[in-house]
Amino acid sequence: MKPIQNKLFISGKFVDACDGASIDVLNPHDNSVITRVAEAKAADVDLAVQAAARAFPKWSAMAAAERGKLLLKLADRIEAEADDLARLEAMDTGHPIRDARQIDVLRTAACYRYFGGMADKFQGSVVPVEPGFLNYVQRMPIGVVGQIVPWNFPLMFTSWKMGPALAAGNTVVMKPAEITPLSTLRIAEMMAEIGFPEGVVNIVVGYGATAGQHLAEHPGVGKIAFTGSTAVGRRIVEASKGNLKRVQLELGGKGANIVFEDADIAAAVNGSAWAIFHNQGQACIAGSRLVVHERVADEFLDRFVGLAKSIRVGDPLDPETEMGPLTSALHRDRVLSYVGVARDQGGSILTGGKAPNNAGLAAGCYVEPTVVRAKPTDRVSQEEVFGPFVTVTTFRNDDEALQIANSTEYGLGSGLWTRDLSRAHKMAAAIRAGMVWINSYKRVNPGSPFGGVGQSGYGREMGFEAMHDYTEAKSVWVNVDAVIPPHFKR
Ligand code: NAP
Ligand code: MG
Repeated sequence: MKPIQNKLFISGKFVDACDGASIDVLNPHDNSVITRVAEAKAADVDLAVQAAARAFPKWSAMAAAERGKLLLKLADRIEAEADDLARLEAMDTGHPIRDARQIDVLRTAACYRYFGGMADKFQGSVVPVEPGFLNYVQRMPIGVVGQIVPWNFPLMFTSWKMGPALAAGNTVVMKPAEITPLSTLRIAEMMAEIGFPEGVVNIVVGYGATAGQHLAEHPGVGKIAFTGSTAVGRRIVEASKGNLKRVQLELGGKGANIVFEDADIAAAVNGSAWAIFHNQGQACIAGSRLVVHERVADEFLDRFVGLAKSIRVGDPLDPETEMGPLTSALHRDRVLSYVGVARDQGGSILTGGKAPNNAGLAAGCYVEPTVVRAKPTDRVSQEEVFGPFVTVTTFRNDDEALQIANSTEYGLGSGLWTRDLSRAHKMAAAIRAGMVWINSYKRVNPGSPFGGVGQSGYGREMGFEAMHDYTEAKSVWVNVDAVIPPHFKR
């Protein structure tokens, strides 16, 4: 494996923090220290914003195809170093290496490639206004963009944010979650090697309350794009007020996953397990609420619980592992605390609810796949647990299923399993969510808009939507040969 990069990346150089501070980065498999990484605070964020501001005029004026070429090269480099990058991500986050290699790394490359191709294809428009006038609309980059991401999919999420921002001609100050900064720093190294101009991307690893807050408040930042919890999302909006910067929020979720009585049960069992247990359930779009028709509930649950019990939980670096540890001990404790919350309100634990009974995993942040029977109004059915923890509730008819699906404050991902085409489309239209998967779950693609409604935030990542969100419309009026009667008759 390559040496691990552990410094801040500012103006094209890897540097220590101004005050020399650093943070331990742990491997959640055994809580051993992987490295210590430089900790950015306000002064470092200031330097990063200044560097991004200096880089902006040239970067935004560069031919879009040239910006695209650099992103395409980055995609190729990521694929060439896929094994190494997957290992780094697995060690830092706990993602099973199998997923890190086949999902995180490949989707990251695909995302940079998509936006590399997008750079010179995203275009403005000409508006048919009054005769004699030409009105054209250009999509202008915003300037310096601040981006803040959480720890659940650090490699992938930085690509979702940096890909479109850079393609559109913005420069970036990125704050990764301080517990999982390593793959982001590796990407910065690749960018430097490939020839991204200095200052176009700056990485400030640091805590949310210091580095993140300062970035969100910064008057030199034109937009803040945030992925994280709904509570912190609200703080980001507050912090953005000073200079009225644009805000994009990808927040929490409580995905309803509905299994109708006519579903292909085998497919629904498998897909629903993927929906919740992939990445140990640490996904905003996780299908964390199973809503199952009462007629098929026994059969479905029997098979679903059986599958949950059989999932191979273990060392992320073992290629046989299907579920790794949660990403931090703090978070593991938070997830486990919901077992008591479920019981207090009458919920029953069908399987899991504790750390695995395996001495080899005792030092890590492991939680067994957990299935809980609960009422739709229970806290565990309403609050985001963000772990391998799924609630199950039953319904009698489509109206009730819809009512349950729409009964949380969130509206991000959702799924439904049925063979009835008309029911599928009717439900998809009525579910209050940014994304609906029919007979599958958790599909994402760089071309397809990603984001939520309600307390799940606003704005969209991916596709043309992201390019719109990372640009401003500029309307230019040209008097070609319009005859305007004088307004002031002199
Ligand atoms: P979080 O606590 O909201 O943190 C997210 C990021 O914001 C971290 O980098 C964090 O730094 C930073 N931050 C914290 N306080 C801040 C402040 N006052 N100002 C600026 N930045 C601040 O979320 P998390 O617990 O790490 O991540 C899990 C959450 O993310 C879940 O709610 C999940 O649903 C959501 N999520 C949403 C999506 C989506 O696309 N909708 C995708 C994935 C995850 P620290 O590391 O210091 O906390
Ligand atoms: Mg870590």
